[in-house]
Amino acid sequence: MANKIRTRFAPSPTGYMHVGNLRTALYAYLIAKHEDGDFLLRIEDTDQQRQVEGALDIIYNTLKTTGLKHDEGPDIGGPVGPYVQSERKNIYIEYAKQLVEKGEAYYCFCTKERLDMLRTNAEALKRPFRYDKHCVKLSKEEIEEKLANGESYVIRQNNPTEGKTTFDDVIYGKISVDNSELDDMILIKSDGLPTYNFANVVDDHLMSITHVVRGSEYLSSAPKYNRLYEAFGWDIPIYVHCPPIMKDQHHKLSKRNGDASFEDLLAKGYLKDAVLNYIALLGWNPGNEQEIFSLQGLIEAFDYKNINKSPAVFDTIKLNWMNGEYIKKLPVEEFTKLALPYYKKVLTKESLDLNKISELLQTRLELLSEIPEQVDFFEELPEYDIDMYLHKRMKTTYENSLTSLEGALAKFESLEDWTFDNIKTTCMNLVKELEVKNGVVLWPIRTAVSGKKFTPGGAFEIADILGKEETLKRLKVGIEKLKEAINK
Ligand code: GLU
Repeated sequence: MANKIRTRFAPSPTGYMHVGNLRTALYAYLIAKHEDGDFLLRIEDTDQQRQVEGALDIIYNTLKTTGLKHDEGPDIGGPVGPYVQSERKNIYIEYAKQLVEKGEAYYCFCTKERLDMLRTNAEALKRPFRYDKHCVKLSKEEIEEKLANGESYVIRQNNPTEGKTTFDDVIYGKISVDNSELDDMILIKSDGLPTYNFANVVDDHLMSITHVVRGSEYLSSAPKYNRLYEAFGWDIPIYVHCPPIMKDQHHKLSKRNGDASFEDLLAKGYLKDAVLNYIALLGWNPGNEQEIFSLQGLIEAFDYKNINKSPAVFDTIKLNWMNGEYIKKLPVEEFTKLALPYYKKVLTKESLDLNKISELLQTRLELLSEIPEQVDFFEELPEYDIDMYLHKRMKTTYENSLTSLEGALAKFESLEDWTFDNIKTTCMNLVKELEVKNGVVLWPIRTAVSGKKFTPGGAFEIADILGKEETLKRLKVGIEKLKEAINK
């Protein structure tokens, strides 16, 4: 039990699930589950100004839909709760006071004006801002007095100004920084809540987290976290900082571009399993050519030591390909279910057999959002250009197209049993009778029934789905159009 791996996903309720956050959640989940460990959910809501309504639901829903099931968390409880930081306020204060006792932290009463001045000075000198330890010198009595007067304060970490602090990261290796570069960061804010910088250390320790998985943007703060662990005398967890996810060589994937959140991707017609699979490969690979993984497959294959440190580029072309692969593999009924909202945008006729349409579509799609433009002609014959009847390779002309359509119309009219097989036999009989190549009959029919250059399925499939009446109607429209073109 002592060595059980425990990881956590610790999102801030921002109102959306950034792809980078989802990857962190996935990697944390995989690291735990690969070793039969525990995966915790902790809500980091200490930045009260940034609270967003409905943000928690997005977090819960994302974990649920992706199958990243947590073993402990605010909604299901667990032995080391509460799992929401705002409910742990007193815990942080208590631990911060312990550090004050040890001289590892101190009360700071500096006003905003004074801090602004320090900041302006640092800017003028082109130096990074660092608090000047002004309040570290306050005596116990002075502090008592200020507290008694109700002066606003924060509690800061008291970092040494000499020497070095080193930390180890599984992905980035050993990193050393001069202590003179460590800012005395705020641990407890003036509203009494902790900063992320403090809360993450206290919580990860109290929740027995063995592997801290998070984005590389926290790397530069890790020395300060180590100093906190050391000040408390706590074991330092294993750090797994994940590489940034880039839109291209120079730009990080960002919410502003509208393509960085899980919800955006689902709305664009990606399947959740495909997205999760793709995200797993953003910065990790199994060491062989395999790319398609179920969640269970990932659990088995995932070795976090194979995470790369170089930035991962979010490659939409690859994601699209992968999505197409997932779409192809879906059982047809399941595909129809997922496609339904897209079908509904353009198809209203009850007579259309959606599963039949799905069978034609599934192999030709990368994104569900492509569906409406591919199937809209089933609802209504679009306006189309008469030139579409002219196909060079099929050797079609207006004249032979007209002959084919008239022949098909006559035969279809007397066809009693409207099935795919019968439609096909009828067309092939016509080919034989007219002594032409297949294309001379099939191309004009497909054009007449769809009004489109590219369609899922060919003449037989489309006619079958449209039904007899609608097919005849469309053939007649084609015949009229061709006659008109010939007589011009
Ligand atoms: N609350 C932090 C965030 O959402 C989590 C960082 C961490 O995983 O430690 O970025």
